[in-house]
Amino acid sequence: MSYQSVNPYNGKLLKTFPELTDKQLELALKTATTCYETWKRKTYAERAVIVAKAGAIMHARVDEFARLVTLEMGKLINEARGEVKFSADILAYYAKNAERFLAPENLHPTRGEAHVETSPIGIIFGVEPWNFPYYQLARVAGPQLMAGNVVVVKHAGCVPQCAIAFEKLWIEAGAPVGAYTNLLISHDQSDRVIDDPRIKGVALTGSVAAGQSIAARAGQNLKISSMELGGSDAFIVLEDADLEKTIPWAVWGRMYNQGQTCCAAKRFIVSEKIADKFLEKFQTALAALQPGDPMDEKTTKGPLSTESALVDLLKQVDGAVAKGAKVLMGGKRINRPGSFMETTILTDVKPENPAFREEFFGPVALFFRVKNEDEAIALANDSDFGLGGSVFTKDVARGKRVASRVETGMMFINNIDWSDAALPFGGIKDSGYGRELGSMGIQEFVNKKLVRVASMAAPV
Ligand code: NAP
Repeated sequence: MSYQSVNPYNGKLLKTFPELTDKQLELALKTATTCYETWKRKTYAERAVIVAKAGAIMHARVDEFARLVTLEMGKLINEARGEVKFSADILAYYAKNAERFLAPENLHPTRGEAHVETSPIGIIFGVEPWNFPYYQLARVAGPQLMAGNVVVVKHAGCVPQCAIAFEKLWIEAGAPVGAYTNLLISHDQSDRVIDDPRIKGVALTGSVAAGQSIAARAGQNLKISSMELGGSDAFIVLEDADLEKTIPWAVWGRMYNQGQTCCAAKRFIVSEKIADKFLEKFQTALAALQPGDPMDEKTTKGPLSTESALVDLLKQVDGAVAKGAKVLMGGKRINRPGSFMETTILTDVKPENPAFREEFFGPVALFFRVKNEDEAIALANDSDFGLGGSVFTKDVARGKRVASRVETGMMFINNIDWSDAALPFGGIKDSGYGRELGSMGIQEFVNKKLVRVASMAAPV
């Protein structure tokens, strides 16, 4: 059974959901196709009423939506509430700004006049991960629905209740059936959806392995795709950093969402001049996080999303240690029910250790000392990933210089306040391509049509 809701706090099976039959899948695609014909003709204002209403419903019922996240993947309840509110904000943002972002652009050719106008392209297929069960969906649904596309989504196997709640939201907001469709489908069915000529674009957020498979399939079909994949972001601490402000960001950057965030701080690259001080404070702050029921607002450390996520991460840590890494703290499963992992710091992860190039998707920090700024940048860039990163320094101009030299899609100076509806999100290298959010996110799956008017004789 691939769609299973299991509470990772205690391992209890909550609900199972059967996959769609091929017949049901065909009906869903047919309905989306019919819906597109009317949806694309609606005005921005008409679409905005529905998209804004969906946001307002989420805002009005934060607890109800948040509870499902905590139940299915163990996110701390306050973080889950934050995610619901932010998802609602993203919907509101696109309802308000889409028409402006997609307005025709006048061009100035040598003869006549011309403009580029934007039009939707059809059904967009989203494949989404469990770590932000609504935010990931809102990042696709908000802009695509406002652009006039319709959306069908395969969500991750472990968050079916969130997937279904988000689909129901659209009906409640007044969207026609077929505007947003949740598909409980297998990987094979997903491949066939990508092959289907009615699908015009594919947006994946997930692992590199999924990206390689899904992007290849989309490529075979000459379909546009966007890939939001993994990361191993550097958290660079220069010798002039204000540690009082830096340590809380380090803790949050690694531990928010129990470390299961694509753009989490994963590699801590610290100037040797302050490395001991940083490490001591970082370790103390991490050790203060106490495991407990993620539904309890006082809990500071929740479980990992699933038992298999925990088992895989423990194996990865063991593998790193077998190849020379040292465990400064943690490294083991916590002896209690549920998929809890000790907060872990690994040091001495050398470039020849396979762990050096891996993404640790959980509460595991890799710690490195560097002599100077150049060495910090070189180490940050010695990664197959290129999603985000951060630099901490009292000298903002220096921070900007460092940020420019780090090869990623996003850099943050003296913060890692990653996500904002108005800011583009995405990476380079193995972290994928394309951008979500901001004005760029709505341009990924639209036609940019040139129209030129010139009354002139043909050059014959
Ligand atoms: P995953 O295994 O790749 O799963 C993500 C989604 O892809 C799930 O819906 C999964 O479905 C589906 N999937 C995987 N392989 C597939 C295939 N061959 N065909 C069709 N669907 C397939 O990723 P994860 O481990 O759950 O999520 C964590 C990864 O996502 C991390 O690497 C993280 O960094 C990345 N991520 C990136 C961003 C970003 O914006 N860059 C944001 C969040 C997460 P099933 O669950 O049914 O397998």
